[in-house]
Amino acid sequence: MKIICIGRNYSEHIKELGNEVPDEPVIFLKPDSAVLIRNNPFYYPSFTKEIDYEAELVVCICKLGKNIEEKFAHKYYEEIGVGIDFTARDLQRKAKEKGLPWTLAKGFNGSAPISEFVPKSNFSDINAIGFSLKQNGELKQQGNSSMMLHKIDQIISYVSKFFTLKKGDLIFTGTPAGVGTIKVGDKLEVFLEDQKMIECEIK
Ligand code: MG
Repeated sequence: MKIICIGRNYSEHIKELGNEVPDEPVIFLKPDSAVLIRNNPFYYPSFTKEIDYEAELVVCICKLGKNIEEKFAHKYYEEIGVGIDFTARDLQRKAKEKGLPWTLAKGFNGSAPISEFVPKSNFSDINAIGFSLKQNGELKQQGNSSMMLHKIDQIISYVSKFFTLKKGDLIFTGTPAGVGTIKVGDKLEVFLEDQKMIECEIK
């Protein structure tokens, strides 16, 4: 199983980090060891002093495919969930400055808490799914798939040119504005529409 992540997919978030709007999706990977399930706590690692939460819609791939045309992309996922793309921003900044990969800043243990997945048929429009994140009860991020620069079907078509997609692969589709740092003792909650899907304590 692989975790494919899209960076810079919401314009307000691109602005808040001072990045450029990309022509093509920005892609990075996390290893399977990054996954955190069943609301397990996240243990703050010692190699960073600045971890940001990034709430994202997550798509679960349901069958093998490569070079998928955008018009057929919808056949390759049945379920949607939410996740947090934890990012060691200090390590990422250092890597960006030197033009080095983000792997350690994005792929460390527990850096990908994910929810249970729900059928996409629960939603009337894949390109109008709302999600949000609260930190210690306070609303910090509110996103909607309608605001994505690259829509889900486009992303699947694009990444499948490079990587064969396999059943169970996950795609993190990018975060909206409002990212912020976490600290030990925090409680993060991620919602898909109005339903709480993740509760994650930082220990
Ligand atoms: Mg992200």
